[in-house]
Amino acid sequence: MNTLEVQGLAKAFGGVQAVDGVSFALAEGELLAMIGPNGAGKSTCFNMLNGQLRPDAGSIRFRGRELAGLAPRQVWRLGIGRTFQITATFASMTVLENVQMGLISHKRGFSGLLRRAGALYREEAAALLARVGMTEQAERACGVLAYGDLKRVELAVALSNDPGLLLMDEPTAGMAPAERVELMGLTAEIVRERSIAVLFTEHDMDVVFAHADRLIVLNRGELIAEGTPAEVRDDARVREIYLGSAAVGEGG
Ligand code: ADP
Ligand code: MG
Repeated sequence: MNTLEVQGLAKAFGGVQAVDGVSFALAEGELLAMIGPNGAGKSTCFNMLNGQLRPDAGSIRFRGRELAGLAPRQVWRLGIGRTFQITATFASMTVLENVQMGLISHKRGFSGLLRRAGALYREEAAALLARVGMTEQAERACGVLAYGDLKRVELAVALSNDPGLLLMDEPTAGMAPAERVELMGLTAEIVRERSIAVLFTEHDMDVVFAHADRLIVLNRGELIAEGTPAEVRDDARVREIYLGSAAVGEGG
């Protein structure tokens, strides 16, 4: 069974058809990149998948279960992780406590968050931090971390609900090129060892081509191409859209 099956997904804002009948699937453990120019509808797709936006039409099945219309928290609890959303509220907590909070929320529900993390799931949190290379900074407050390190913590938090699917909308936004490559490399390694399926967007085509098993291409809300990196790179319509920025996946 596919981990995710999206059928006929659609969303309009006023007169703008932001997403227009998009269908695709993700196999277990697959890394699928969604690419397309600004305004193509990528974030709107992500926000329907993660529960922040209600689709106008279409179906989103995760492990066979319909997600369309569920709230973000319900989607998260089913085992869909989302990176890169540590809120300011958590900035005063230590790195370790932030990951403990993710574990507590996953295992005990939202009410578990009403007290400090204390000793709960400390070892599991420490193990997740070790995996993302943040052991030495575990006792620092999240608010003082360098940007790239914060991203690693966010990855550890995203893994805390033991997800079967990770949704990453521009996970490396705001990072320097070398850091982007490193963060996506680390993410790819971890999701492959855990067979986590990933849907991600990324502007840096080098990063996309280095890590994606398959690509889907959106343009003006429609899915216009789908295939392996090599197939998409050679697709005439894709080349047309990216004209002016050289060929897809070459240079820049
Ligand atoms: P992408 O992430 O591919 O850059 P988006 O999904 O953010 O594209 O946007 C797709 C289209 O929908 C754009 O035309 C954008 O202006 C419009 N759009 C996105 N979100 C909203 C919103 N909340 N209200 C009105 N229009 C929106
Ligand atoms: Mg976007």
